[in-house]
Amino acid sequence: MDRLGSGIAGGRLAPADYERNFSDLHPRFDRHEALVAADRCYFCHDAPCMTACPTAIDIPLFIRQISTANPLGAARTIFSQNSLGGMCARVCPTETLCEEACVRHTAEDRPVEIGRLQRYATDIAMETGRQFFARAPETGKTIAVVGAGPAGLACAHRAALNGHTAIVFDAREKPGGLNEYGIAAYKAADDFAQREVDYLLAIGGIEIRNGHALGRDFSLSDLTRDYDAVFLGLGLAGVNALGLEGEDLAGVDDAVDFIAALRQAENKADVPIGRRVVVLGGGMTAIDAAIQAKLLGAEEVTICYRRGKDQMNASEYEQDLAASKGVLIRHWLSPKRILGRDGAVAGIELDYTALRDGHLTGTGETGVIACDQVLKAIGQSFRASGLGTLAMERGRIVIDEHCRTSMDGVYAGGDCTNRGEDLTVQAVAHGRDAADAIHRHLAAAGQPAVAVA
Ligand SMILES: Cc1cc2nc3c(=O)[nH]c(=O)nc-3n(C[C@H](O)[C@H](O)[C@H](O)COP(=O)(O)OP(=O)(O)OC[C@H]3O[C@@H](n4cnc5c(N)ncnc54)[C@H](O)[C@@H]3O)c2cc1C
Ligand code: SF4
Repeated sequence: MDRLGSGIAGGRLAPADYERNFSDLHPRFDRHEALVAADRCYFCHDAPCMTACPTAIDIPLFIRQISTANPLGAARTIFSQNSLGGMCARVCPTETLCEEACVRHTAEDRPVEIGRLQRYATDIAMETGRQFFARAPETGKTIAVVGAGPAGLACAHRAALNGHTAIVFDAREKPGGLNEYGIAAYKAADDFAQREVDYLLAIGGIEIRNGHALGRDFSLSDLTRDYDAVFLGLGLAGVNALGLEGEDLAGVDDAVDFIAALRQAENKADVPIGRRVVVLGGGMTAIDAAIQAKLLGAEEVTICYRRGKDQMNASEYEQDLAASKGVLIRHWLSPKRILGRDGAVAGIELDYTALRDGHLTGTGETGVIACDQVLKAIGQSFRASGLGTLAMERGRIVIDEHCRTSMDGVYAGGDCTNRGEDLTVQAVAHGRDAADAIHRHLAAAGQPAVAVA
Protein backbone atom coordinates (compact mmCIF):
# COMPACT_ATOMS: atom_id res chain seq x y z
CA MET A 1 0.00 0.00 0.00
CA ASP A 2 1.34 3.46 -0.90
CA ARG A 3 1.92 5.82 2.01
CA LEU A 4 0.43 9.27 1.24
CA GLY A 5 0.75 8.67 -2.46
CA SER A 6 4.55 8.47 -2.15
CA GLY A 7 6.60 5.58 -3.47
CA ILE A 8 6.64 3.95 -0.03
CA ALA A 9 5.07 0.53 -0.17
CA GLY A 10 5.56 -3.01 1.02
CA GLY A 11 5.64 -6.20 -1.04
CA ARG A 12 7.76 -5.11 -3.99
CA LEU A 13 9.46 -8.45 -4.51
CA ALA A 14 8.39 -12.03 -4.98
CA PRO A 15 8.31 -14.08 -1.71
CA ALA A 16 11.32 -16.13 -2.85
CA ASP A 17 13.35 -12.93 -3.29
CA TYR A 18 12.71 -11.86 0.32
CA GLU A 19 13.70 -15.30 1.53
CA ARG A 20 16.93 -15.27 -0.49
CA ASN A 21 17.79 -11.64 0.34
CA PHE A 22 17.45 -12.09 4.10
CA SER A 23 19.09 -15.48 4.39
CA ASP A 24 22.44 -16.00 6.10
CA LEU A 25 25.12 -13.60 4.83
CA HIS A 26 27.89 -16.19 5.24
CA PRO A 27 26.59 -19.72 5.56
CA ARG A 28 28.41 -21.93 8.03
CA PHE A 29 31.58 -23.73 6.93
CA ASP A 30 31.15 -27.43 6.33
CA ARG A 31 33.64 -29.81 7.97
CA HIS A 32 36.04 -29.82 5.06
CA GLU A 33 36.01 -26.01 4.69
CA ALA A 34 36.61 -25.64 8.43
CA LEU A 35 39.60 -28.00 8.37
CA VAL A 36 41.12 -26.19 5.38
CA ALA A 37 40.59 -22.75 7.02
CA ALA A 38 41.99 -23.98 10.37
CA ASP A 39 45.05 -25.39 8.64
CA ARG A 40 46.06 -21.88 7.58
CA CYS A 41 46.67 -20.80 11.20
CA TYR A 42 50.32 -20.63 12.37
CA PHE A 43 49.23 -21.09 16.02
CA CYS A 44 51.37 -18.11 17.03
CA HIS A 45 52.51 -18.35 20.67
CA ASP A 46 52.06 -14.57 21.18
CA ALA A 47 48.92 -14.50 19.04
CA PRO A 48 48.08 -10.89 18.17
CA CYS A 49 44.57 -11.98 17.11
CA MET A 50 43.86 -12.88 20.73
CA THR A 51 45.05 -9.51 22.05
CA ALA A 52 42.80 -7.77 19.50
CA CYS A 53 39.71 -9.61 20.77
CA PRO A 54 37.94 -7.64 23.54
CA THR A 55 36.94 -10.95 25.16
CA ALA A 56 40.48 -12.38 24.73
CA ILE A 57 39.34 -15.74 23.35
CA ASP A 58 42.28 -18.15 23.00
CA ILE A 59 42.03 -18.13 19.21
CA PRO A 60 45.05 -20.31 18.33
CA LEU A 61 43.84 -22.93 20.82
CA PHE A 62 40.30 -23.12 19.44
CA ILE A 63 41.58 -23.21 15.87
CA ARG A 64 43.94 -26.05 16.77
CA GLN A 65 41.01 -27.90 18.34
CA ILE A 66 39.04 -27.51 15.11
CA SER A 67 42.02 -28.72 13.09
CA THR A 68 42.16 -31.85 15.27
CA ALA A 69 38.46 -32.53 14.57
CA ASN A 70 37.39 -31.38 18.05
CA PRO A 71 34.78 -28.66 17.40
CA LEU A 72 33.13 -29.17 20.80
CA GLY A 73 36.46 -28.57 22.52
CA ALA A 74 36.83 -25.44 20.38
CA ALA A 75 33.37 -24.26 21.45
CA ARG A 76 34.31 -24.78 25.08
CA THR A 77 37.41 -22.62 24.62
CA ILE A 78 35.30 -19.88 23.00
CA PHE A 79 32.42 -19.97 25.51
CA SER A 80 34.79 -19.92 28.48
CA GLN A 81 35.64 -16.33 27.54
CA ASN A 82 32.57 -15.24 25.60
CA SER A 83 29.17 -16.72 26.43
CA LEU A 84 27.69 -15.03 23.32
CA GLY A 85 30.42 -16.44 21.08
CA GLY A 86 27.80 -17.59 18.57
CA MET A 87 26.42 -14.10 17.97
CA CYS A 88 29.88 -12.53 18.04
CA ALA A 89 30.97 -15.00 15.34
CA ARG A 90 28.20 -13.55 13.17
CA VAL A 91 28.40 -9.84 13.93
CA CYS A 92 31.94 -8.97 15.03
CA PRO A 93 33.70 -6.64 12.62
CA THR A 94 36.56 -9.17 12.55
CA GLU A 95 38.17 -7.16 9.74
CA THR A 96 39.01 -4.45 12.30
CA LEU A 97 39.64 -6.78 15.28
CA CYS A 98 41.18 -10.30 15.30
CA GLU A 99 41.49 -10.74 11.53
CA GLU A 100 43.10 -7.36 11.08
CA ALA A 101 45.71 -8.35 13.70
CA CYS A 102 46.30 -11.82 12.21
CA VAL A 103 49.92 -12.23 11.07
CA ARG A 104 48.68 -13.64 7.75
CA HIS A 105 46.95 -10.33 7.02
CA THR A 106 49.55 -8.96 4.58
CA ALA A 107 49.52 -7.46 1.12
CA GLU A 108 50.28 -10.88 -0.40
CA ASP A 109 48.12 -13.04 1.85
CA ARG A 110 44.78 -12.93 3.68
CA PRO A 111 43.96 -13.42 7.35
CA VAL A 112 42.76 -16.69 8.83
CA GLU A 113 38.94 -16.66 8.77
CA ILE A 114 38.63 -16.56 12.55
CA GLY A 115 35.00 -15.39 12.66
CA ARG A 116 33.75 -18.16 10.40
CA LEU A 117 35.76 -20.78 12.31
CA GLN A 118 34.26 -19.51 15.56
CA ARG A 119 30.81 -19.84 14.06
CA TYR A 120 31.53 -23.39 12.90
CA ALA A 121 32.43 -24.52 16.43
CA THR A 122 29.75 -22.62 18.34
CA ASP A 123 26.97 -23.67 15.94
CA ILE A 124 27.85 -27.34 16.36
CA ALA A 125 27.84 -27.00 20.15
CA MET A 126 24.55 -25.10 20.26
CA GLU A 127 22.84 -27.53 17.89
CA THR A 128 23.73 -30.43 20.15
CA GLY A 129 22.47 -28.40 23.14
CA ARG A 130 25.74 -29.22 24.88
CA GLN A 131 26.46 -27.09 27.98
CA PHE A 132 30.11 -26.96 28.99
CA PHE A 133 30.01 -25.34 32.40
CA ALA A 134 28.18 -26.23 35.59
CA ARG A 135 27.03 -23.61 38.05
CA ALA A 136 28.96 -23.21 41.29
CA PRO A 137 26.94 -24.09 44.44
CA GLU A 138 24.21 -21.54 45.22
CA THR A 139 25.54 -18.56 47.16
CA GLY A 140 22.12 -17.24 48.16
CA LYS A 141 22.99 -13.86 46.60
CA THR A 142 20.76 -12.22 43.99
CA ILE A 143 21.95 -9.72 41.40
CA ALA A 144 19.66 -7.33 39.57
CA VAL A 145 20.63 -6.89 35.92
CA VAL A 146 18.92 -4.11 33.99
CA GLY A 147 18.93 -4.65 30.24
CA ALA A 148 18.83 -8.03 28.48
CA GLY A 149 21.20 -7.02 25.69
CA PRO A 150 24.65 -8.58 25.20
CA ALA A 151 26.08 -6.79 28.27
CA GLY A 152 23.24 -7.81 30.60
CA LEU A 153 23.03 -11.37 29.29
CA ALA A 154 26.80 -11.92 29.60
CA CYS A 155 26.70 -10.55 33.14
CA ALA A 156 23.71 -12.70 34.13
CA HIS A 157 25.27 -15.83 32.64
CA ARG A 158 28.61 -15.37 34.42
CA ALA A 159 26.84 -14.42 37.67
CA ALA A 160 24.76 -17.62 37.44
CA LEU A 161 27.92 -19.67 36.80
CA ASN A 162 29.45 -18.07 39.90
CA GLY A 163 26.52 -19.46 41.91
CA HIS A 164 24.39 -16.33 42.22
CA THR A 165 20.83 -15.79 41.00
CA ALA A 166 20.39 -13.13 38.31
CA ILE A 167 17.08 -11.32 37.79
CA VAL A 168 17.19 -9.53 34.44
CA PHE A 169 14.77 -6.64 33.86
CA ASP A 170 14.19 -5.35 30.35
CA ALA A 171 11.83 -2.69 29.07
CA ARG A 172 11.12 -4.44 25.77
CA GLU A 173 8.96 -7.46 24.99
CA LYS A 174 11.80 -9.79 24.08
CA PRO A 175 15.29 -10.26 25.51
CA GLY A 176 18.42 -9.84 23.38
CA GLY A 177 18.73 -6.06 23.13
CA LEU A 178 20.12 -5.04 19.75
CA ASN A 179 20.89 -8.68 18.94
CA GLU A 180 17.12 -9.03 18.61
CA TYR A 181 16.13 -5.52 17.50
CA GLY A 182 19.19 -3.98 15.80
CA ILE A 183 21.61 -6.39 14.14
CA ALA A 184 20.99 -6.77 10.41
CA ALA A 185 18.56 -9.60 9.62
CA TYR A 186 21.04 -11.39 7.33
CA LYS A 187 23.64 -11.54 10.14
CA ALA A 188 21.28 -13.20 12.64
CA ALA A 189 19.06 -15.34 10.40
CA ASP A 190 16.75 -18.13 11.64
CA ASP A 191 15.89 -16.40 14.93
CA PHE A 192 19.44 -16.90 16.18
CA ALA A 193 19.19 -14.16 18.84
CA GLN A 194 16.35 -15.97 20.67
CA ARG A 195 17.98 -19.37 20.22
CA GLU A 196 21.11 -17.98 21.84
CA VAL A 197 19.11 -16.55 24.77
CA ASP A 198 17.52 -20.00 25.27
CA TYR A 199 20.95 -21.62 25.22
CA LEU A 200 22.24 -19.17 27.84
CA LEU A 201 19.21 -19.59 30.11
CA ALA A 202 19.54 -23.38 30.04
CA ILE A 203 22.26 -23.23 32.73
CA GLY A 204 19.63 -22.10 35.27
CA GLY A 205 19.79 -19.35 37.89
CA ILE A 206 18.66 -16.62 35.48
CA GLU A 207 15.16 -15.15 35.36
CA ILE A 208 14.22 -12.63 32.69
CA ARG A 209 11.42 -10.14 33.36
CA ASN A 210 10.43 -8.35 30.16
CA GLY A 211 8.28 -5.22 30.15
CA HIS A 212 10.00 -3.83 33.27
CA ALA A 213 11.62 -0.42 32.76
CA LEU A 214 14.05 1.32 35.08
CA GLY A 215 12.85 4.88 35.62
CA ARG A 216 9.23 3.90 34.97
CA ASP A 217 8.53 0.78 37.06
CA PHE A 218 11.40 1.00 39.56
CA SER A 219 14.40 3.14 40.41
CA LEU A 220 18.04 2.39 41.02
CA SER A 221 17.57 2.94 44.75
CA ASP A 222 14.83 0.23 44.75
CA LEU A 223 17.36 -2.17 43.26
CA THR A 224 20.24 -1.29 45.59
CA ARG A 225 17.84 -1.79 48.53
CA ASP A 226 16.45 -5.14 47.35
CA TYR A 227 19.44 -6.88 45.71
CA ASP A 228 23.00 -7.77 46.65
CA ALA A 229 24.44 -5.98 43.60
CA VAL A 230 23.18 -4.23 40.48
CA PHE A 231 24.43 -4.31 36.87
CA LEU A 232 23.24 -1.72 34.33
CA GLY A 233 23.43 -2.74 30.66
CA LEU A 234 21.00 -0.18 29.31
CA GLY A 235 22.40 0.42 25.83
CA LEU A 236 21.56 3.61 23.98
CA ALA A 237 17.81 4.03 23.83
CA GLY A 238 17.79 7.55 22.36
CA VAL A 239 18.38 8.53 18.73
CA ASN A 240 19.88 11.83 17.62
CA ALA A 241 17.69 14.29 15.74
CA LEU A 242 18.76 16.22 12.64
CA GLY A 243 17.09 19.43 13.81
CA LEU A 244 16.28 20.36 10.21
CA GLU A 245 13.26 21.66 8.36
CA GLY A 246 11.13 18.81 7.04
CA GLU A 247 12.21 16.27 9.67
CA ASP A 248 8.56 15.64 10.63
CA LEU A 249 7.45 14.71 7.11
CA ALA A 250 6.04 11.25 6.50
CA GLY A 251 8.83 9.04 5.22
CA VAL A 252 11.55 10.45 7.51
CA ASP A 253 12.39 7.62 9.88
CA ASP A 254 15.07 6.68 12.39
CA ALA A 255 17.23 3.95 10.90
CA VAL A 256 17.22 1.96 14.18
CA ASP A 257 13.40 1.99 14.28
CA PHE A 258 13.30 0.92 10.64
CA ILE A 259 15.68 -1.98 11.36
CA ALA A 260 13.76 -2.97 14.52
CA ALA A 261 10.49 -3.10 12.54
CA LEU A 262 12.19 -5.16 9.86
CA ARG A 263 13.65 -7.58 12.41
CA GLN A 264 10.27 -8.04 14.09
CA ALA A 265 8.20 -8.36 10.88
CA GLU A 266 6.67 -11.82 10.44
CA ASN A 267 6.69 -11.15 6.72
CA LYS A 268 9.36 -8.88 5.20
CA ALA A 269 6.95 -7.98 2.38
CA ASP A 270 4.86 -6.05 4.94
CA VAL A 271 7.68 -3.59 5.72
CA PRO A 272 7.06 -0.36 3.78
CA ILE A 273 10.04 0.85 1.78
CA GLY A 274 10.59 3.79 -0.56
CA ARG A 275 11.52 3.59 -4.20
CA ARG A 276 14.34 6.07 -3.69
CA VAL A 277 15.85 6.01 -0.22
CA VAL A 278 18.48 8.33 1.23
CA VAL A 279 20.33 7.17 4.36
CA LEU A 280 22.16 9.80 6.42
CA GLY A 281 25.23 8.70 8.38
CA GLY A 282 28.53 6.88 8.06
CA GLY A 283 28.46 4.07 10.62
CA MET A 284 27.36 0.46 10.84
CA THR A 285 23.72 1.49 11.33
CA ALA A 286 23.75 3.52 8.09
CA ILE A 287 25.25 0.61 6.14
CA ASP A 288 22.85 -1.95 7.64
CA ALA A 289 19.81 0.25 7.00
CA ALA A 290 20.89 0.97 3.42
CA ILE A 291 21.61 -2.67 2.55
CA GLN A 292 18.32 -3.83 4.05
CA ALA A 293 16.39 -1.07 2.25
CA LYS A 294 17.85 -2.37 -1.01
CA LEU A 295 17.10 -5.99 -0.10
CA LEU A 296 13.49 -4.98 0.63
CA GLY A 297 13.15 -3.79 -2.95
CA ALA A 298 14.05 -0.07 -2.98
CA GLU A 299 15.18 0.87 -6.48
CA GLU A 300 17.84 3.40 -5.46
CA VAL A 301 19.55 3.66 -2.09
CA THR A 302 22.09 6.41 -1.45
CA ILE A 303 24.11 6.87 1.73
CA CYS A 304 25.10 10.51 2.24
CA TYR A 305 27.97 11.09 4.63
CA ARG A 306 29.30 14.51 5.56
CA ARG A 307 32.98 13.50 5.57
CA GLY A 308 35.23 11.35 3.39
CA LYS A 309 35.49 7.57 2.91
CA ASP A 310 38.38 7.22 5.36
CA GLN A 311 36.46 8.93 8.16
CA MET A 312 33.46 6.61 7.93
CA ASN A 313 32.95 4.55 11.07
CA ALA A 314 31.78 1.65 8.92
CA SER A 315 34.73 -0.55 7.97
CA GLU A 316 35.94 -0.87 4.40
CA TYR A 317 34.52 -4.39 4.34
CA GLU A 318 31.07 -3.05 5.24
CA GLN A 319 31.31 -0.25 2.69
CA ASP A 320 32.23 -2.82 0.02
CA LEU A 321 29.35 -5.05 1.13
CA ALA A 322 26.94 -2.13 0.68
CA ALA A 323 28.37 -1.37 -2.76
CA SER A 324 28.05 -5.04 -3.75
CA LYS A 325 24.33 -4.88 -2.91
CA GLY A 326 23.87 -1.83 -5.14
CA VAL A 327 24.02 0.92 -2.49
CA LEU A 328 25.62 4.17 -3.64
CA ILE A 329 27.80 5.89 -1.01
CA ARG A 330 28.30 9.64 -1.51
CA HIS A 331 30.78 11.55 0.64
CA TRP A 332 31.16 15.21 1.60
CA LEU A 333 27.42 15.87 1.70
CA SER A 334 25.61 17.26 4.75
CA PRO A 335 21.79 17.47 4.95
CA LYS A 336 20.38 21.02 4.82
CA ARG A 337 16.61 20.48 4.71
CA ILE A 338 14.11 17.83 3.73
CA LEU A 339 11.74 18.75 0.96
CA GLY A 340 8.10 17.68 1.04
CA ARG A 341 5.05 17.31 -1.11
CA ASP A 342 1.56 16.70 0.34
CA GLY A 343 3.06 16.03 3.77
CA ALA A 344 5.53 13.38 2.58
CA VAL A 345 9.22 13.44 1.67
CA ALA A 346 9.94 14.38 -1.92
CA GLY A 347 13.68 15.06 -1.72
CA ILE A 348 16.57 16.22 0.36
CA GLU A 349 18.73 19.29 -0.08
CA LEU A 350 22.36 18.83 0.88
CA ASP A 351 25.38 21.07 1.36
CA TYR A 352 28.65 20.02 -0.23
CA THR A 353 31.28 19.98 2.52
CA ALA A 354 35.07 20.14 2.72
CA LEU A 355 37.81 20.13 5.34
CA ARG A 356 39.39 23.57 5.74
CA ASP A 357 42.15 24.02 8.34
CA GLY A 358 41.02 20.75 9.88
CA HIS A 359 37.40 21.95 10.25
CA LEU A 360 34.42 20.59 8.36
CA THR A 361 32.65 23.44 6.57
CA GLY A 362 30.07 23.92 3.86
CA THR A 363 31.49 24.92 0.46
CA GLY A 364 28.45 27.07 -0.37
CA GLU A 365 27.34 24.64 -3.08
CA THR A 366 24.13 22.69 -2.60
CA GLY A 367 22.43 19.84 -4.40
CA VAL A 368 19.10 18.01 -4.25
CA ILE A 369 18.48 14.27 -4.32
CA ALA A 370 14.91 13.24 -5.11
CA CYS A 371 13.71 10.57 -2.70
CA ASP A 372 10.60 9.32 -0.94
CA GLN A 373 12.21 8.00 2.23
CA VAL A 374 14.97 9.35 4.47
CA LEU A 375 16.55 7.12 7.11
CA LYS A 376 18.47 8.92 9.85
CA ALA A 377 21.49 7.01 11.14
CA ILE A 378 23.35 9.88 12.77
CA GLY A 379 23.99 8.28 16.13
CA GLN A 380 22.28 7.17 19.28
CA SER A 381 22.38 8.61 22.75
CA PHE A 382 21.97 7.33 26.29
CA ARG A 383 18.62 8.10 27.88
CA ALA A 384 19.18 8.19 31.62
CA SER A 385 16.20 7.95 33.92
CA GLY A 386 15.86 6.73 37.49
CA LEU A 387 19.63 6.67 38.01
CA GLY A 388 19.81 9.17 40.86
CA THR A 389 23.24 10.72 41.33
CA LEU A 390 25.26 8.18 39.31
CA ALA A 391 28.35 9.89 37.81
CA MET A 392 28.14 10.52 34.06
CA GLU A 393 30.66 11.67 31.50
CA ARG A 394 29.67 12.97 28.07
CA GLY A 395 26.18 11.53 28.59
CA ARG A 396 27.31 8.01 29.56
CA ILE A 397 27.79 6.17 32.84
CA VAL A 398 31.34 6.41 34.19
CA ILE A 399 32.92 3.02 34.95
CA ASP A 400 36.41 1.91 35.96
CA GLU A 401 38.35 -1.09 34.58
CA HIS A 402 36.26 -3.43 36.80
CA CYS A 403 32.99 -1.92 35.48
CA ARG A 404 32.32 -0.26 38.86
CA THR A 405 30.24 2.92 38.76
CA SER A 406 30.48 5.80 41.21
CA MET A 407 27.92 4.02 43.45
CA ASP A 408 28.98 1.17 45.73
CA GLY A 409 27.52 -2.15 44.56
CA VAL A 410 26.39 -0.76 41.20
CA TYR A 411 28.20 -1.89 38.04
CA ALA A 412 27.59 -1.06 34.38
CA GLY A 413 28.75 -2.13 30.94
CA GLY A 414 28.17 -1.98 27.21
CA ASP A 415 27.06 0.98 25.12
CA CYS A 416 25.65 2.98 28.05
CA THR A 417 29.12 3.43 29.55
CA ASN A 418 32.08 5.67 28.78
CA ARG A 419 34.57 2.80 28.13
CA GLY A 420 35.30 0.89 24.94
CA GLU A 421 33.72 0.79 21.51
CA ASP A 422 30.01 0.35 20.90
CA LEU A 423 30.26 -3.27 19.76
CA THR A 424 28.51 -6.48 20.76
CA VAL A 425 31.78 -8.14 21.77
CA GLN A 426 32.76 -5.17 23.94
CA ALA A 427 29.40 -5.32 25.73
CA VAL A 428 29.91 -9.05 26.36
CA ALA A 429 33.41 -8.41 27.79
CA HIS A 430 32.02 -5.73 30.13
CA GLY A 431 29.16 -7.95 31.32
CA ARG A 432 31.49 -10.86 32.03
CA ASP A 433 34.07 -8.70 33.83
CA ALA A 434 31.40 -6.95 35.89
CA ALA A 435 29.99 -10.30 37.03
CA ASP A 436 33.44 -11.43 38.13
CA ALA A 437 34.03 -8.12 39.94
CA ILE A 438 30.65 -8.48 41.68
CA HIS A 439 31.58 -12.03 42.69
CA ARG A 440 34.87 -10.87 44.21
CA HIS A 441 33.08 -8.02 45.99
CA LEU A 442 30.41 -10.31 47.46
CA ALA A 443 33.00 -12.91 48.48
CA ALA A 444 35.13 -10.26 50.22
CA ALA A 445 32.05 -8.84 51.99
CA GLY A 446 31.21 -12.34 53.26
CA GLN A 447 34.66 -12.91 54.83
CA PRO A 448 34.87 -12.58 58.61
CA ALA A 449 36.90 -9.56 59.72
CA VAL A 450 40.50 -10.48 60.51
CA ALA A 451 41.79 -9.17 63.83
CA VAL A 452 45.11 -7.37 63.45
CA ALA A 453 47.43 -7.98 66.35
C1 LIG B 1 21.54 -0.93 13.80
C2 LIG B 1 22.72 -1.42 14.57
C3 LIG B 1 23.52 -2.41 14.03
C4 LIG B 1 24.62 -2.87 14.73
N1 LIG B 1 25.39 -3.84 14.17
C5 LIG B 1 26.45 -4.31 14.86
C6 LIG B 1 27.27 -5.33 14.30
O1 LIG B 1 27.04 -5.80 13.19
N2 LIG B 1 28.32 -5.78 15.04
C7 LIG B 1 28.61 -5.29 16.29
O2 LIG B 1 29.56 -5.74 16.93
N3 LIG B 1 27.85 -4.31 16.83
C8 LIG B 1 26.79 -3.82 16.15
N4 LIG B 1 26.02 -2.83 16.69
C9 LIG B 1 26.34 -2.38 18.07
C10 LIG B 1 25.85 -3.42 19.10
O3 LIG B 1 24.56 -3.86 18.74
C11 LIG B 1 25.87 -2.81 20.49
O4 LIG B 1 27.18 -2.35 20.78
C12 LIG B 1 25.45 -3.83 21.56
O5 LIG B 1 24.16 -4.33 21.32
C13 LIG B 1 25.50 -3.18 22.95
O6 LIG B 1 24.99 -4.06 23.89
P1 LIG B 1 24.30 -3.50 25.21
O7 LIG B 1 23.91 -4.70 26.00
O8 LIG B 1 25.19 -2.49 25.82
O9 LIG B 1 23.03 -2.69 24.71
P2 LIG B 1 21.72 -3.12 23.91
O10 LIG B 1 21.97 -4.23 22.97
O11 LIG B 1 21.17 -1.85 23.36
O12 LIG B 1 20.74 -3.66 25.06
C14 LIG B 1 20.24 -2.79 26.05
C15 LIG B 1 18.99 -3.39 26.64
O13 LIG B 1 18.57 -2.56 27.71
C16 LIG B 1 17.16 -2.39 27.66
N5 LIG B 1 16.83 -1.12 28.31
C17 LIG B 1 17.16 0.12 27.92
N6 LIG B 1 16.69 1.03 28.79
C18 LIG B 1 16.05 0.33 29.76
C19 LIG B 1 15.34 0.70 30.95
N7 LIG B 1 15.21 1.97 31.31
N8 LIG B 1 14.81 -0.29 31.72
C20 LIG B 1 14.94 -1.60 31.36
N9 LIG B 1 15.58 -1.99 30.24
C21 LIG B 1 16.13 -1.05 29.46
C22 LIG B 1 16.86 -2.39 26.17
O14 LIG B 1 15.49 -2.75 25.93
C23 LIG B 1 17.83 -3.43 25.65
O15 LIG B 1 17.27 -4.72 25.64
C24 LIG B 1 24.92 -2.33 16.01
C25 LIG B 1 24.12 -1.32 16.55
C26 LIG B 1 23.03 -0.87 15.84
C27 LIG B 1 22.19 0.23 16.41
S1 SF4 C 1 47.45 -14.31 14.36
FE1 SF4 C 1 46.49 -15.49 12.66
S2 SF4 C 1 47.96 -17.14 12.29
FE2 SF4 C 1 48.49 -16.30 14.33
S3 SF4 C 1 47.31 -17.51 15.83
FE3 SF4 C 1 46.01 -15.78 15.28
S4 SF4 C 1 44.72 -16.57 13.59
FE4 SF4 C 1 46.47 -17.98 13.76
